[in-house]
Amino acid sequence: MEKQNIEWGKLGFGYVKTDMRYVSNFKDGAWDEGCLTGDDKVVISECAGVLQYSQSVFEGLKAYTTEDGSIVCFRPDLNASRMADSARRLEMPAFPEDRFVDAVKQVVLANESWVPPYGSGATLYIRPYMFGSNPVIGVKPADEYQFRIFVTPVGPYFKGGAKPITIKIADYDRAAPRGTGHIKAGLNYAMSLHAIVEAHKQGFAENLYPDSATRTKVEETGGANIIFIKGNKFITVGSPTILPSITRRSLEYVAEKYLGLEVEERTVMLSELGDFEEAGLCGTAAVISPVGKIVDGDKEICFPSGMEKMGPTIQKLYDTLTGIQMGRIEAPEGWIYKIK
Ligand SMILES: *Cc1c(COP(=O)(O)O)cnc(C)c1O
Repeated sequence: MEKQNIEWGKLGFGYVKTDMRYVSNFKDGAWDEGCLTGDDKVVISECAGVLQYSQSVFEGLKAYTTEDGSIVCFRPDLNASRMADSARRLEMPAFPEDRFVDAVKQVVLANESWVPPYGSGATLYIRPYMFGSNPVIGVKPADEYQFRIFVTPVGPYFKGGAKPITIKIADYDRAAPRGTGHIKAGLNYAMSLHAIVEAHKQGFAENLYPDSATRTKVEETGGANIIFIKGNKFITVGSPTILPSITRRSLEYVAEKYLGLEVEERTVMLSELGDFEEAGLCGTAAVISPVGKIVDGDKEICFPSGMEKMGPTIQKLYDTLTGIQMGRIEAPEGWIYKIK
């Protein structure tokens, strides 16, 4: 297989149109058989449910080449089940989970020349998504939906090493109690855009949202869960209003089973941020971004791990999880889904 002529190491995190994508339509109460297509355009009614009332959900995962030359992706079954959960919360029909994983495989295989080579640091980002496609003007769920998957090659998240970032406690709220914070829906991102644009203008990399009800507890950033280290403890946020990150759940397992850390998934108060030794943001794109500093109004919390490099324990977590993903370290049963 001839690879695309791309400088893989220089790619950013952007959209590049590849050869093929997957499409399946839901109509009259059933999903059609689905197919691959070269057509990157979506044609829907001007009154489609997604355009009027934002009925859409999405997922994000990666395919990559491992050390032995296989093409794999990481725990796609968890993306399938999370997308089904997201869909149900927005009164959309779930796309069957086994078909989701099969469709991921089909799209990656159909774009094999776009899968970056091992060692390049680049990966093939996979974006499954689904939206209400028929006209909806009175407020109600759509009757027809489209499920699609496209892929795009993305560069190494950290070019030249992962430098710790500075984040702020958000001035805005992200997720209402009993709201939609736990699902992967565009609507959660639309309303975070103003906050992130302002935070960037102020020189911060991300917003860390407190809980909306009391603004005393730590939740997550706009697109990543937060993790902490204190002594031998790996501490993550337990909250019904954060997105259940697959990276975070995998790190909890790695922390306990591979590194012998004590794992605590629990309420984390803003007032205890100063007790932690290391912090990081976790998600599919970067795996872990180290956090060096959190600014809360006129208060600064500077982690002892500093602003130069990842703290030692977060580094170990990062190295172990990326080692598992790339086939250098033996993976737990079922984590690596072989495409080819
Ligand atoms: C996608 C996402 C994450 C990260 O989840 P992963 O499954 O690890 O990629 C975290 N928080 C939010 C709000 C997200 O949308």
